[in-house]
Amino acid sequence: MGSNNKFNPLNLCRENVKLLAPYTSARDEYVSNGNKMIFLDANENPNETGVNRYPDPLQRSLRTEMAFLKNVTENQLLFGNGSDEVLDLLFRAFCEPNKDSVITFPPTYGMYGVLAGINSVQVHEIPLTTSFHIDIEGFRNKLDSKAKMLFICSPNNPSGNLMDPKHIEEILQTFEGLVVVDEAYIDFTESQSWSNRLLEFPNLVVIQTLSKAYGLAGIRLGMLMASDQIISILQKIKPPFNVNELTQLKALERLDQKERIQKEVNEIIVERKRLENALKFMPFVKEIFPSEANFVLVRVDQADQSYAQLLDQGIVVRNRSKQLHCENTLRFTVGTPNENKILIETLNKL
Ligand SMILES: *Cc1c(COP(=O)(O)O)cnc(C)c1O
Repeated sequence: MGSNNKFNPLNLCRENVKLLAPYTSARDEYVSNGNKMIFLDANENPNETGVNRYPDPLQRSLRTEMAFLKNVTENQLLFGNGSDEVLDLLFRAFCEPNKDSVITFPPTYGMYGVLAGINSVQVHEIPLTTSFHIDIEGFRNKLDSKAKMLFICSPNNPSGNLMDPKHIEEILQTFEGLVVVDEAYIDFTESQSWSNRLLEFPNLVVIQTLSKAYGLAGIRLGMLMASDQIISILQKIKPPFNVNELTQLKALERLDQKERIQKEVNEIIVERKRLENALKFMPFVKEIFPSEANFVLVRVDQADQSYAQLLDQGIVVRNRSKQLHCENTLRFTVGTPNENKILIETLNKL
């Protein structure tokens, strides 16, 4: 416990990864001096298609822009093909298959368990309380588990609530492995990102994505923020061209629209509150779970039936009833004002 001053991610890392020399691509070896060059190094087709060249493996323009925006240094940042890829890189760098384990707090984002399964890593589950908060006693009882990583999703998917910062802080101080805080929905909240505290907690890893508030789910761009030591380990195993050129260009274009993004986020929050208010008056709605995200989890009297009826009316929502503590729940993503209006009208007619 309290081993943070001694924390060295190399002690957690897989043996083979420690020994690995990263693949260097043709473009890695060349540093631009501003002159126009003839590129005969990478076996590309020289005819212009807009994307006939390999993308920048270091995503330099995007990295500079994002590091500035997130107030981290460029070497505290790693991009991936969605957060799913950066999460997978964590497993492949730090967890020895058939030997290591990780901790999750269900009900939570399904990919942590899926990726653990793919990488043959055991999962110790510490259930959230029935109001979806971390069971900190349950965590303390697992401190001797030797798990390599622990996943905290805040705001949590599917419940929508932020986790108590005091709990996260205690976990960061006492857990000896990596503490991965998934902030996919952070832009919808008022709270500060944990990425502001990377220097304080060398075992902290923060995951964010451009799939939600930034409105770019289709380009697949996720990012991971952590100490430069953790980043350099992950950099070694990252496929060199994991973030394609179209993605880098589209992300940069969207980052120029900060006011528009903020306006969309504000509208989504207003709409979520409107949806929550409307749901309160529906007789089959039993419970509306407090959300700080762009969705709301609702307990109804018969989730399977409501789900099927909505589908019949052409509305697809997520039935979360099979998840722990989520019996008879539906998760509604907040849509456009018009979509939400149709949802509310349809629900009122069920
Ligand atoms: C949607 C979501 C993500 C995003 O994944 P991408 O691969 O970046 O699209 C990550 N974590 C959670 C908890 C999510 O709900």
